[in-house]
Amino acid sequence: MLCQYKNELKEMIEEVKGFTNQGKVADYIPALADANSSTLAVAIFNGNDTCFSAGQSNERFTLQSISKVLTLALALMDHGGELVFSKVGMEPTGDPFNSIIKLESHAPSKPLNPMINAGALAVSHLIKGASTEEKLERLLNFVRRLSGNDSITYNSEVAKSEFETADLNRSLVYFMKQHGVITGNVEDLLDFYTKQCAIEVDCHDLAKIGYALATDGAAMNQEEEIMNPYIARIVKTFMVTCGMYNASGEFAIKVGIPAKSGVSGGIVGAVPNGMGIGIYGPALDEKGNSVAGMKLLEAISARYRLSIF
Ligand code: GLN
Repeated sequence: MLCQYKNELKEMIEEVKGFTNQGKVADYIPALADANSSTLAVAIFNGNDTCFSAGQSNERFTLQSISKVLTLALALMDHGGELVFSKVGMEPTGDPFNSIIKLESHAPSKPLNPMINAGALAVSHLIKGASTEEKLERLLNFVRRLSGNDSITYNSEVAKSEFETADLNRSLVYFMKQHGVITGNVEDLLDFYTKQCAIEVDCHDLAKIGYALATDGAAMNQEEEIMNPYIARIVKTFMVTCGMYNASGEFAIKVGIPAKSGVSGGIVGAVPNGMGIGIYGPALDEKGNSVAGMKLLEAISARYRLSIF
């Protein structure tokens, strides 16, 4: 499949690399500010091989909001849809990912979807486990199985940096606690959430995670099922409607691949029926999406006709 097009991927990187100049690395989490804004890397996994197109495809970065699709899948596996969707809705917001406004303006106060921070915090709160360590270990094991990489863990420096500065997320949790969406200790939830966001991967890991979603939860060896196809379908649907925050509509038109971005500059793409794409480009636009990463996905989608629409 695409592996024969390795040179074309390199060409596309060259074509869009200039867009890295149009973005800025996230610095509201201090530890993310050190990223090199000119980096742009991609890996594609189709079940057989990964094809990398840039030297930096082995560079490691944190999942940030990409983790939201994984905690959603795990929470659905833990509890089923009825309970999960009693705590979080299914509709896009059109607001920035960290906005609080709809928690107040919508009644009952319930985050509109699991891809915004409020919704992700409500979902993280549902992950089963007696302690933060146990919840994190369960999540890490899930990510390790999806990516086939047993060495995946979280970056404690990035987690600490976010934990110490996450007052906006804290206020979302307090707001939801007041309205009964969340119970329990706020700091414990922030601890788990910031560690979840700090899980570290490279483009190859991300491509394999995308592949697992693309193949409806089948493991790489195709012999075991990691996630039931219905859950994979729910997750991919959210990726289409909310995965790129308040740029999801434009992204669906221009790219048309279920995808999820994070403020580290990562993007995971899941092309139905068998292709996962992992992208890293830390220069972000004002909505928090990788500028050059989105351009690269647009070019890949156009060249190989990958839009699902
Ligand atoms: N950890 C980040 C936050 O909560 C994730 C946000 C993102 O990637 N959009 O702010």
